Amino acid sequence: MKLLIKNARLVDPSQNFDDTCNILIEDKKIKEIQGQRAKGKCQNNNAELKTSDRKPEVIDAKGMIVMPGLVDMHVHLREPGFEYKETVRTGTEAAVRGGVTSVCCMPNTNPVNDNPGITEFIIRKAIQEGSCSIFPVGAITKGQKGEELAELGMMFDAGCVAFSDDGRPVMDSLLMRRALEYSRIRNMLIISHAEDLSLAAGGVMNEGLLSVTMGLRGIPPQAEEIMISRDIALAELTGGRLHIAHVSTAGSVRLLRAAKKRGIAEITAETCPHYFSITEEAVSGYNGNAKVNPPLRGARDVEAIREGLSDGTIDVIATDHAPHHKDEKSAEFDHAPSGISGLETSLGLSMRLVDDGVLTIRGLVEKMTCMPARILGLSATKGTLKPGADADLVIIDTEKEYTVSASDFRSKGKNTPFDGWSLKARPAVTIARGRIYTWE
Ligand SMILES: [Zn+2]
Repeated sequence: MKLLIKNARLVDPSQNFDDTCNILIEDKKIKEIQGQRAKGKCQNNNAELKTSDRKPEVIDAKGMIVMPGLVDMHVHLREPGFEYKETVRTGTEAAVRGGVTSVCCMPNTNPVNDNPGITEFIIRKAIQEGSCSIFPVGAITKGQKGEELAELGMMFDAGCVAFSDDGRPVMDSLLMRRALEYSRIRNMLIISHAEDLSLAAGGVMNEGLLSVTMGLRGIPPQAEEIMISRDIALAELTGGRLHIAHVSTAGSVRLLRAAKKRGIAEITAETCPHYFSITEEAVSGYNGNAKVNPPLRGARDVEAIREGLSDGTIDVIATDHAPHHKDEKSAEFDHAPSGISGLETSLGLSMRLVDDGVLTIRGLVEKMTCMPARILGLSATKGTLKPGADADLVIIDTEKEYTVSASDFRSKGKNTPFDGWSLKARPAVTIARGRIYTWE
């Protein structure tokens, strides 16, 4: 296939590029970036288009922004084992609808992705049924039980790009030390779901005045912060590569900022759109669709997360896409499972950071494309539109508004607290591995 995207404003932080140009795609790869000021910034550029043998299909992207397809390093695809919540097929359909062309899927499936057999199963499924690229995350411990290390090396060889017991923390500090030591030897990434379970004590929302008023057990911010402190200390001890998942509190941002300032080891962090868009007030009225782990926090935390994004303390925006069946979510708040179906709203919610002056468009695209790709070791082909990279990109109209309608989600999970919100920047076209998806 051959495709020419004309008159695009290309925003590609991986090449320090923000300018109007034409993008030529051939055989599922970026072939050339062409334009006046592309010269000197991009390789392979010519004044005239080479329209050699085949005539390219043309998309005119005048007035639109083109960016690399989003790389979401925190997604729950639920398959195998929980296909009633989501599958590889529906989860990746939701991804491309949201402009996401690479997803990392977390291992808390049934069976758990804790051995190369499951890793290979997911990779096969991804090739057969996925609309976009899938990169499995393996479990740190067997069965995510926190008792003994899983076969990290074998899973890494089978295609896992990182390791995490996400959904649960690794409570045993010695095991976490061993995982980080091993990660250093093989240059693997360890992702921490930072939660001190004994302090969280089965809580279901943020601890504070509201949890008392609602008569619900709260989770104090310190349940997250204690584990982040521990994991920073262990990263310092071992020199391993540590990534902190779904940062939600002001204290966590302070800890990460200080650790980065000291320059110890290689520590990176992500947050999710719900932690910089809404507060714990969203659970008022016992709204199960706003129940998430870690829980939504207070206004001061939201402000601190925004500052952390702005000053570079938080490197990545990921969704923690966690689809659930509506019957589960409509259970009593105490018993409803935690999670938000996030793939189809993440770009629109994140774009509000640009409108609010928290990030520049370049800064935002960086946190959703080349930063996660770099952390995952995928930057040669993902999160960039350099010639030779995979033809993964998204075309958006940043000004056009739309109303979020959960019932129209491609994801099986309709669980979102953002239903009915007015957002901008919904993808008009997503191209994933050279395949074109259009909606408007
Ligand atoms: Zn988690």
